[in-house]
Amino acid sequence: MKRNWRWLGIGAAGGLAVYYLVPYLGMQLANFGVVRQSSGALPEMGLTFDDGPDPACTPAILDALRAHGAHATFFVVGERALAYPELIARIQREGHELASHGMHHRHAWLRSPWAVAADLRASVATLQRLASLRPTFFRPPHGGYTAATWWVLRRERLTAAHWSLEAHDWHREFLPEDVVERVLYHAEPGRVVVMHDGGPGGPVTAKILPQLLEELSGRGYQIKPLGQLHGLQASSPRGVLRRIWELIVDDTFDRINDVDFLTEPAYGMFRLARSRFSGPAVTLSDGRVVRPGDSVAELHVHSRRLVAAVRHNPVRAFRMVRQSITDVARMMRDNPKYRDAPLLFAVTPFHDLVDLLGFQVRDLDSRVFYLRMQAFTVYLRWLYASPASRKPTHPKMIYIERDQLLSRYLSAEVPEAVTSGN
Ligand SMILES: [Zn+2]
Repeated sequence: MKRNWRWLGIGAAGGLAVYYLVPYLGMQLANFGVVRQSSGALPEMGLTFDDGPDPACTPAILDALRAHGAHATFFVVGERALAYPELIARIQREGHELASHGMHHRHAWLRSPWAVAADLRASVATLQRLASLRPTFFRPPHGGYTAATWWVLRRERLTAAHWSLEAHDWHREFLPEDVVERVLYHAEPGRVVVMHDGGPGGPVTAKILPQLLEELSGRGYQIKPLGQLHGLQASSPRGVLRRIWELIVDDTFDRINDVDFLTEPAYGMFRLARSRFSGPAVTLSDGRVVRPGDSVAELHVHSRRLVAAVRHNPVRAFRMVRQSITDVARMMRDNPKYRDAPLLFAVTPFHDLVDLLGFQVRDLDSRVFYLRMQAFTVYLRWLYASPASRKPTHPKMIYIERDQLLSRYLSAEVPEAVTSGN
């Protein structure tokens, strides 16, 4: 008898793990099988609005989107859609995408499996009735998944949609300007942002959206509905590793090395830092010699952006690189931190076309350093799934003298020192 109870206990624990824990870890946390951002190959981002429609906020949000020619995705709550069908009609008329956020805004964990399934089906039926369309995407209320959610998504052929950037517009401790700052700080090609047009986040988003759209378009981003983003992606195990790597290693590196970001514009490919020269000694055109250990400027590539851009369209990627190097040159000229850096260098496997950009290429003279960089490159290529990942990789040093960089990229511009009147 006692033994039976134990097996019952183990069975129940296993059942709960399959029903709640596996979907929670796999879908909600790791986003396996859940789309969360696009390929990042194009200068585009997805804005998504949850919890509406709401007569107090949705119209203002639609006005702002229309004023900027931007199109977004609205994850509407079915019962609210029924209450405000005229807003659903307007969202649709103005070219936005309608998606499901459930019939009632309740967490799947607090409902029976059949209620979870019925709720999702009712929301799909509501959109079919009001807008004559079958939604492609579903985002569960509070981002909560169960095995029932997974099952009904498959049955209804819906794609679960998460986000890769949370605006925190609902957060009590975030002022409206903090929300703008947060989104702009994390803006990246391919990001999907979650905001709200209903609930506590709605008024905040309605207020800041005009400014946010202005800034994003100033940086070269196009705002598109999820269904129109290039190569919408679910997480893979490699994607999870990539996120961890970027969060922990990249961030720490950037902080330790006091890195300046030049990735604000959508085309931005580089980060810049002062560092010690690691390459073989270089004789500059005025006869000065830069030796290993001398203080110089170092270029760091934003691997994810570069790989995505090259894979999509190499010619366009090359243009983006050239544009981004112009920003590097500007910072070398205008930021006092870089004024006495005699050259700009990088150690990189991407040295095929850099002579077209004015850079010189040198073999690395230290065998140990070469092998270390080679191993690192192989890892990065795997991490970012570069199409070239099977080709042998030969990291080399590339460099350009400060004066050559400035004259090549900025000759048409008036230096700041002159305009500020001496
Ligand atoms: Zn919600």
